[in-house]
Amino acid sequence: MSWHLAPSHPFSGVRLLTFDLDDTLWPCLPTIQAAEQEVHAWFADSAPVLASEYDIDSLRAHRQQVARENPHMAHDLSAIRIHSYRQLAERHGLPAEVAHEANSIFRRARNRVTPYQEVREVLGSLRGHFQLVAVSNGNAQIEKTPLAGCFHFAFMAEQVGAAKPDPALFHAASDATGIPLNAAAHVGDDPERDVDAARRAGLRSVWINRDGSEWPGALPGPDLQVRDLYALRDMLMRREES
Ligand SMILES: [Mg+2]
Repeated sequence: MSWHLAPSHPFSGVRLLTFDLDDTLWPCLPTIQAAEQEVHAWFADSAPVLASEYDIDSLRAHRQQVARENPHMAHDLSAIRIHSYRQLAERHGLPAEVAHEANSIFRRARNRVTPYQEVREVLGSLRGHFQLVAVSNGNAQIEKTPLAGCFHFAFMAEQVGAAKPDPALFHAASDATGIPLNAAAHVGDDPERDVDAARRAGLRSVWINRDGSEWPGALPGPDLQVRDLYALRDMLMRREES
């Protein structure tokens, strides 16, 4: 079945939907916190000097310092994490493998996300009508999360060499599906890195505003604002009645 939006519908002609992941399809912070705790527990077992010298906050501060010192890596969170762990390991006479193993533990835990309750259902009903592509600045591996099978394609900033608001992720989605960006809409929670980035790249934009935040007045507004994906689906299905 294909849906046909009335020409006057704001999303007329849209065939590709791209989705941000963190804080759009699942809450990010609890996942990261759990993953960092898991890494710290592994240090306590396998590299105890790191666990005793650094708590989770000081590990994070070190990583942020590495990111500031290496702006060319800014889009590649895994590279920054490995680089940071390796510096700390070397400082205490530990082999570089410690850094890689710690990063692997983080990556596995990072995929243990808990999607918002409507997400699987709505993606499942949209999937037959649109190409669905995940585009994330983060490094969750979608096919290893509970949302495996929901998307036609998924791209991370570390794969395409640039993070949103750079348009590289949107271009990757367009190239993979063969659908031009003027027939695409992007759904995300971040006014600048999702909504404004999409507008600049020529996509229509959907701001998912789950906690009722104020739109930052300095930026042009989104084409559509929704509270959750049910509202997005309702808006997209309106075309069937028109
Ligand atoms: Mg986000």
